[in-house]
Amino acid sequence: MKNLWFDMDGVMTVYDIALYTTEKAGGTPPFLVPRSHVFATLAENPNLMKAFNELYQEYRDDPKVSVNVLTSIPVGLLQAEHTLDKFEWCRKHIENFSPEDFYCVSVPKHDAVIDFLWPLTKNDILVDDYPKNLTNWVRRGGTAVKCVNGINSYNDLYTCIDTRWDPEEIVKTLKEVIGQ
Ligand SMILES: [Mg+2]
Repeated sequence: MKNLWFDMDGVMTVYDIALYTTEKAGGTPPFLVPRSHVFATLAENPNLMKAFNELYQEYRDDPKVSVNVLTSIPVGLLQAEHTLDKFEWCRKHIENFSPEDFYCVSVPKHDAVIDFLWPLTKNDILVDDYPKNLTNWVRRGGTAVKCVNGINSYNDLYTCIDTRWDPEEIVKTLKEVIGQ
């Protein structure tokens, strides 16, 4: 069984630095303003989401591959709002979206899998844009695919995909990683 774990911010969605900075909203970053619902309406990375949807449909009933969303949110008052907003986003952007493929966590991603599901192995493939998530994931036994998105950069530690590639190229690269 291969498990693909897709990050949301900066992978499935366009990373918007303004949401996390304090220039707006009187010193509070917009994503921490109650009822701002910023995560519900983020723009998608269209090529990446075409690729995601293709893989999601193809492996939907395949016991050998599972395609999941693994996103993290901060602990605190807004956990429910953030979770529901991200859930809503997935419902809108993923064809035949099933809630059981949605993991929204407030612990590091590797801990979320290890503590609640199973020990990470090479068969757990994290697709993420944030180097620290990838490093920790690999350190604990998983496989990393770096998602380059125009803000971060390529490296040769991991297989890379790019949100600006054609969907077919993204699908092809991810299928190589999962050996399909
Ligand atoms: Mg990210």
